[in-house]
Parts: sequence; structure tokens; C-alpha cells
Amino acid sequence: MKEEIMERISQLRAEIPSGVELVAVSKFKPVEDLLAAYEAGQRIFGESRVRELIEKIPQLPSDVKWHFIGHLQTNKVRQLIGKTSLIESVDSERLLNVIEEESRKKSCCSNVLLQVHVAREETKFGFLPEELEEFFTSGRYKSLKNIKLCGIMAMASNTTDLQRVRTDFREAAAVFRKVATELAPHLTDFNILSMGMSGDWPIAVEEGANLIRVGSAIFGDR
Ligand SMILES: *Cc1c(COP(=O)(O)O)cnc(C)c1O
Repeated sequence: MKEEIMERISQLRAEIPSGVELVAVSKFKPVEDLLAAYEAGQRIFGESRVRELIEKIPQLPSDVKWHFIGHLQTNKVRQLIGKTSLIESVDSERLLNVIEEESRKKSCCSNVLLQVHVAREETKFGFLPEELEEFFTSGRYKSLKNIKLCGIMAMASNTTDLQRVRTDFREAAAVFRKVATELAPHLTDFNILSMGMSGDWPIAVEEGANLIRVGSAIFGDR
């Protein structure tokens, strides 16, 4: 298993164009698997549950960067603040405000991505594109002092229809570019577009992703 994980990491590295960063999504996987990926040079890991993330942190070397990628409940925010290099899955303004408040209490600054909902499914979380645009045009984002808005995260529809997947990614990329170039061009750190998973990352990269989140293609099925 260890050799397989290491092999898959090197393989992915070889395939991913330069300028695109890889998050190894290690949710539900044992620490040995993460250590194998680490040994292959992987440094960014993605977790979707606060408790699991907090348990894993001390078991990996301290130069690991942790990304939170799951739906975050507001009552778990306090535990998470200060533990991650990036919270990718901020899916509402309410959550954003809680992160702001808890970061202020800890006198720190949290790096976040705003999750935009482009998939045609009821179950997916995130800002609708028009909600996200309104958040920026209203200027409310300027009141965030303890949050750094670093970009956008999106997931495509869960479908085998690759044209649909491409359309979803294209829509998310358009929102990202609009915010970055038109609505909030002075946000110089707003430069991450996180999209693409094991089954669809090449399409995401074609559509402009510069951060991809790959789990099962590295660690096997969950
Ligand atoms: C689980 C998960 C992934 C990784 O999915 P795979 O299909 O295993 O690559 C990526 N992003 C998010 C938000 C996830 O929850």
C-alpha cells in the first residue's frame, strides 16, 4: 500500500502542469497512508472533519499544510482556527462572519476560499454565483479584518456527463475571474481557484484551476 501511494503521488506530479498545486485528500485514511504520501514529497493534505484533522495534525511532521475542505459547522469553527493554512469550504456569509469573529478572538488571520455552488444538485453547499457577486459589489467583504480571502473553491456536478462537469467548472472560473479582475481587483491574494478531484481534475485544470484536491486516486477508495 505504501509503495502504491508513493507511486501514485509521483505519477500525479508528473501529470499535473506546473503552476497547479496538489492537495492530497486524506479524509478517513489512516496516518500511515498520509506518511507514505509525505515521504513521496506531498506537503498539502485536505481533511473534511474537524476532529479527524485535529487528531492527525500532531502525527505528521510540522511542515505539513492542512486544508479544511468539508462542510464546516459554525460551532466547530473555534476548534479549527489556527490549525489550517487554508479553509477551502466557506459556504455562507454567516460562516464567514463566525470565522472572522473567532480569528479576531485569537488575534490571527484565517486564509479562506469561498465555495461557489455551480453543480446542479440540491445537496451541494456554497454561495450561488449571484450571491457571491452581491457580497463583493455590496462592499461587505471589506469589513473582514481577520480573514484573508484567497479565492474560490468549487465542485462539479456528480455525473458521468463530462460536458456538464466542464460547464460547471467554466462557470466557477468565470465567477473567480470576475471577482479577481472586476469586483475586488485590489484583493491581491485572491488568486486561488480550487477545483477538480480524482475523476475530473484534468478538465478542471483546462478550465483554469490552480489547486486540485485528489483523494481516491492517491489513497484508493474510501
Ligand atoms: C472528498 C473530497 C475530494 C476528493 O475526492 P476524490 O474523488 O476522492 O478525489 C475533493 N474535494 C472535496 C471537497 C471532497 O470532499
